[in-house]
Amino acid sequence: MDYEAVIGLETHVQLKTQSKMWCACPNAFGSDPNTNVCPVCLGLPGVLPVANEEAMRLTVLTGFLLNCSIPRFAKFDRKNYFYPDSPKNYQVTQYDRPSTQGGWLEFEFAGGLSRVRITRAHLEEDVGKNNHFDRHSGVDFNRAGVPLLEIVSEPDITSADMAYEYLNALKDVLMRAGISDCDMEKGMVRCDVNVSVRPIGTTALGAKIEIKNMNSFSGVRRALEYEIPRQIAAVKRGETLRQETRRWDDEGGITETMRSKEDAHDYRYFPEPDLMPFEPTDAWLAEVRARVPELPLQRKQRLMRDFSLPAGDAQVLTDNLELGRYFESAATGYKNPKAVANWVINNLAARLSESGTPIDSISLKPASVRELAELVDSGRISSKIAQDVFAECWTSGASPAAVVESKGLAQVSDTGAIETLADQVIAANPGPASDFKAGKVAALNFLKGQLMKLSKGKANPGLAGEVLERKLRA
Ligand SMILES: [Zn+2]
Repeated sequence: MDYEAVIGLETHVQLKTQSKMWCACPNAFGSDPNTNVCPVCLGLPGVLPVANEEAMRLTVLTGFLLNCSIPRFAKFDRKNYFYPDSPKNYQVTQYDRPSTQGGWLEFEFAGGLSRVRITRAHLEEDVGKNNHFDRHSGVDFNRAGVPLLEIVSEPDITSADMAYEYLNALKDVLMRAGISDCDMEKGMVRCDVNVSVRPIGTTALGAKIEIKNMNSFSGVRRALEYEIPRQIAAVKRGETLRQETRRWDDEGGITETMRSKEDAHDYRYFPEPDLMPFEPTDAWLAEVRARVPELPLQRKQRLMRDFSLPAGDAQVLTDNLELGRYFESAATGYKNPKAVANWVINNLAARLSESGTPIDSISLKPASVRELAELVDSGRISSKIAQDVFAECWTSGASPAAVVESKGLAQVSDTGAIETLADQVIAANPGPASDFKAGKVAALNFLKGQLMKLSKGKANPGLAGEVLERKLRA
């Protein structure tokens, strides 16, 4: 019997706000321990939380980006548990009435598009951080109360690679919209993985096994590459898998039991009495919706559709947003956008990286790149000459047409001039000329090369070939 994996992910993302979720302390990484704290985020008695409006906006913005519905009533709840890094002994979260629900994320995977449904994205607060030293431990509460978004997927993911691509796509969306910096090194994204296996063709879910606190996407992939075969082997041996929480040992490359269902928490959720429910107005929602940017996959698809670009080019112009904007500015309305894309992706990108110049301070304007493409497409200059013109324009900022004019680089398409050159070439190369007449077709290329050389690259290559052939066949 063959088995398949069923995977759902809970992704925790720190929101990019100036201050924490319920107080004015800075939301900053790397400060000295316990310097970004106050009575509110330390959970001292008698304080009251005030919700951070930007965090609410970023949560709803995420909902829009993930195609969720935004309920007109959401609320906060207390999740009660004791842990040394949780100063209040409870976490404020959204339990049964979250701010967003029921969406999906689409991304490229295995040569096509995959869609993973999003159960919800709800707002909560981060906890502090325990530091363990030789003879004692310390708690740093700087992170306590930092706004944290939990994005829960449906169990639509079927492999380690798909989980990896889903996470990368999610990160691209969140970064593009300025919702989070998603810096893994700083712990801004953490992930819990739910994975079970079942016989292919069945629909019942197997025992849910959770791998907690993953802090890298490659770690998630490796953990699943270990965990899925482990579960399948166990089931094939006739073992019954039980619901449990496991830990990923990155060095050992294995998962191991952390706790079983028997010692699962009862969190005794109840509505947070110190916070009002959240009921967004139409105007407020419209203001958030106005912040929805074009997402990477949409952008790539639009570039492919509107400019007839191949997927590879569209990807480059999506990954590098500034280069993409430059391209759009140059190519919009031009009949051959692929030619413009070639100049931008090959020549311009190379110059930018060589020189280290930011794109908005270069002297070569998008209109010039378009003009250069037009000069080649209309046969005014050869593509070889165009390379020199590009170099000149990059340095001086002059317009390509002006460079062609002042240096006399225009392609020779005058039949009379080319005929004179052809006569010279045939006279100077009697061997290849008679080879061609004897049926050796390849000899024409050699003669054409000679003609181009004689014209210093300016002869129209198509015309040169035609004239030579006509003369040799005469
Ligand atoms: Zn505080």
